[in-house]
Amino acid sequence: MLREILPDIYQQILPSDFLNLNPQETKATCSNCLKSRPGPDVAAPYYDARLKCCTYYPFLPNYLVGAILTEASDAGLETEGSSRIRGLIRERRFTLPIGVCAPPGYQEKFNATRSEAFGRDPELLCPFYIFKTGQCGVWRHRGHECATFFCTSSYGQRGESFWHEVRNLLHYTEMYLSQEAMLFKGFSSSEIDTNLTFIRQPPEQPSGAAWQTGALGWSQIWAHHHDDIEGYYKATYAFVLKHAMTLRKQVSDEKFRTGETDTRILRNLIVGAKVSKNHSAGQSPQAAARRV
Ligand code: SF4
Ligand code: SF4
Repeated sequence: MLREILPDIYQQILPSDFLNLNPQETKATCSNCLKSRPGPDVAAPYYDARLKCCTYYPFLPNYLVGAILTEASDAGLETEGSSRIRGLIRERRFTLPIGVCAPPGYQEKFNATRSEAFGRDPELLCPFYIFKTGQCGVWRHRGHECATFFCTSSYGQRGESFWHEVRNLLHYTEMYLSQEAMLFKGFSSSEIDTNLTFIRQPPEQPSGAAWQTGALGWSQIWAHHHDDIEGYYKATYAFVLKHAMTLRKQVSDEKFRTGETDTRILRNLIVGAKVSKNHSAGQSPQAAARRV
């Protein structure tokens, strides 16, 4: 069910009929990556098996960053996820009040090289990917792109439409909750807009400086929270948990009961669909590459 696929926090935020949708995806076998081995329709694998489709830098909203840090602190452990987030904060690597986003330098390189380099260039690897084990360091709290990404759907085209809609709903939810959390922590609407710029269309940076925020820019972006960034992220997570009932109503009323995003229509895409036997495992790498 979607409730097992999506990050835990959404149990309290998203409507039950949505979470109870039950897509059965069996083709995207990530532990033995479908795209990293030859198949009946493909002579050579698309991706390097050590990298898979994690040559991507996903957006991670502030409250999910907070969930990762809070869980690690509560357990008295440094987890892979918490240690990488702390490293990104130390290095001022675009850990922003709205969440962790791809540095402009990364976005530029990704956009310029993705057709050849996706799945093949280790320089594009996600900062949360555990190279030694081939696993995700933030799996239980991953962002909307990763939680809804199946390079091949068992339902063929209908499955792709299903995941496209679920991805959009989750993206909307991330944007809504992360901005509500910023307002709660005292950021203004124009400060939120500045944060959004880094996700939508990063400002041009001098060459070589585009992977790290400069010290001045960093303290401006973080305004009144720059001395306790970890505490800020944890507070955004606590905010979403504490106000889950209200946020759930706002998110549901706004997005989950209208037009083509009605849960019944989503269910029909997978319940009414024949599971495709012929859906090609050899679709083009571009089609399978992460959407941005
Ligand atoms: S979703 Fe990614 S890891 Fe999973 S099978 Fe497809 S390419 Fe491989
Ligand atoms: S967050 Fe996890 S699943 Fe997503 S790209 Fe990174 S390592 Fe892969």
